Amino acid sequence: MENSLPHPPAGTSAWTLRLPALSLVLFLLLLTLLVWLTRVHDEESQRATLISDVLWMEQNLQFHLDRNATQLGQLGPELVSPQISLQTDAQLRQLLRSDSGLVRIIWLDQAGDIIGALPPLSDDHLIGESRGTVPARSVYRLARSIGRPVYSPAYEVAGGGHHFEVHVPTYTEAGLIGAVVGVYSLQALIIRELPWWFSERYRVSVLDPDGAEIAAKSKVAPVSDRQRYTMAFDPPGHGLRLQITAYEGDMRWIPMLLIASIVLLGGIIVWSLWQLRLQLARRQAAEQALRGETLFRKAMEDSLLTGLRARDLEGRITYVNPAFCRMVGFSEAELINRLPPMPYWDPEHIDRTLEVHDQILAGNAPREGVELQLRRKDGAHIDTMIYEAPLIDAEGRHAGWMGSMLDITEQKRARDLARQQEERLQATSRLITMGEMASTLAHELNQPLAAITSYNNGCLNRLADGVTDIEELQDIHQKIARQARRAGEIIRRVHDFVRRSEPKREPLDVNAVIIDAVGLLEADSRKRRMRVLTKLDDRLPEVAADPVMIEQVIVNLVRNAMDAMANTPPERRIVRITTCEEGGQAIVRVADQGPGIEPEVALRLFEPFFSTKQEGMGMGLNICRSIAELHHGRLGFEIAPDGGTIFTLSLPIDQEPS
Ligand code: ADP
Repeated sequence: MENSLPHPPAGTSAWTLRLPALSLVLFLLLLTLLVWLTRVHDEESQRATLISDVLWMEQNLQFHLDRNATQLGQLGPELVSPQISLQTDAQLRQLLRSDSGLVRIIWLDQAGDIIGALPPLSDDHLIGESRGTVPARSVYRLARSIGRPVYSPAYEVAGGGHHFEVHVPTYTEAGLIGAVVGVYSLQALIIRELPWWFSERYRVSVLDPDGAEIAAKSKVAPVSDRQRYTMAFDPPGHGLRLQITAYEGDMRWIPMLLIASIVLLGGIIVWSLWQLRLQLARRQAAEQALRGETLFRKAMEDSLLTGLRARDLEGRITYVNPAFCRMVGFSEAELINRLPPMPYWDPEHIDRTLEVHDQILAGNAPREGVELQLRRKDGAHIDTMIYEAPLIDAEGRHAGWMGSMLDITEQKRARDLARQQEERLQATSRLITMGEMASTLAHELNQPLAAITSYNNGCLNRLADGVTDIEELQDIHQKIARQARRAGEIIRRVHDFVRRSEPKREPLDVNAVIIDAVGLLEADSRKRRMRVLTKLDDRLPEVAADPVMIEQVIVNLVRNAMDAMANTPPERRIVRITTCEEGGQAIVRVADQGPGIEPEVALRLFEPFFSTKQEGMGMGLNICRSIAELHHGRLGFEIAPDGGTIFTLSLPIDQEPS
């Protein structure tokens, strides 16, 4: 099963990471360019408008001045004549009143002297006059010589403001007869001549040759002079210049809004890209962690010595780890998707295997695990311990079963070996006990045999004597039979005690076993002049135990008790065996009246080969404790209050035989 997450190719990842950043930079550059271009385009179009407006204004002024000059020229002959008609006077006034910029009209004679003026000349001409410009004779001369209107330079007048003049020579059929001079106020010309819309957009000013502003329309200075255009003011010329400065145009809302929304959108894109990047980084970190975790888990599963196997609800194998494959000898490919019967099931134990399988699928797998023998692919048997648990998926659903399997072949072999050795040891110990009691038992057997012999002899003698009393003979034979049964009983007990068989757990009446053991020891105790007294609880429940082993424990304990009482006065040499039920346990107590047990002996009592006796092997109590533990019971001892020792064997009641 492939667990590791695929790595993205290194090149692709570098590009995919760089591409958004690159396109972002490009986008921002383009955005800046667009804003800049829009601005430039805007300024250019403003400038183009300015230029075309300026040209229009220039043409308009020129046209206006030309028209005035023409009208003045037409009025010339009338004015120079001695009598000015009413119509001419009206025309003059009309010229001065209209938006012509003319503030005065002067007419000169041929010599250039003033004939008249409207309005009449006043002091405000003094400055120009002092400069010799009102009407400037030089200008007049020039006009007279070239025969066309000539403009004078601008000059300052009293009361502020600047004027300039146009000298229009007047001809009749008789030739030059004089000139008409139109005096313009620069301020009036600019103010009146330019339409309102023009002055709303632009500030128009007139600069003298030194660059000083001598007239201006609007006193409000423009905020910036970015959009400014300066041109020669000709006519009148003489170094005068017109300067047109655009007021900061109206906010152009639509392009501004457009740009603002583009910038805002750009900002949002940058922000979202940044967020995306952060999220990507977080995701990558999480993926990295997940990959690390997955690899770690895979490494763990691969290096486990425990076999792991997952099955779905139908029993189909969905996962096996390498340890499992090693145990059963089949490859992962051979096992995945297999349905029962599995190839590693042992045909010799197929019934038990199926039973365990059904038990697992029914959800009744024992928590403490099941021992099962399987067969490897190469035919070898393996003993396994299987622990099965429900497989719950991420959504909390029961998806199948997860089994862990331990190869316990070696442990089982070692365990069997140890058990066999233990059994052998126990049997040997029993044989030794028997060996020790052999002479006593032989003597014990001798008694019924001798009795049988003497009864038999007595019977033969009676028959030889011709006694035919049937009843008497019957009585003798019954006695013979009784002695034979006694001998048989002794032999059965010895045989039962030393026989070696497979240990078994069967419902056992402990009292009966004690009676048997006491019977076996009867001769021994008699020989030692000891008494074995029993006080057995006849309501004692049965326990699940092996009778031979329990008898061995009793015999051992009683013999130890008798050994301990070797130096006890004969009348006190009593071994008391009692049974009772206490806290769900069957308790057997063997009490003696010996010297008790020294503390240092007590510490080592159950050690193998520990003995304080000259002939002792020191295995008795060790074996007795093993037997007790094998039956899930305990063997302990305590010092009796009136001296001596009490050994206590406790065996659990209600133990299911297994
Ligand atoms: P063995 O009987 O061969 O010595 P055991 O394992 O049966 O081996 O006993 C070990 C030792 O425990 C004995 O040698 C003895 O010193 C002590 N012991 C056993 N039972 C008693 C008892 N009832 N009273 C005093 N000492 C005892």
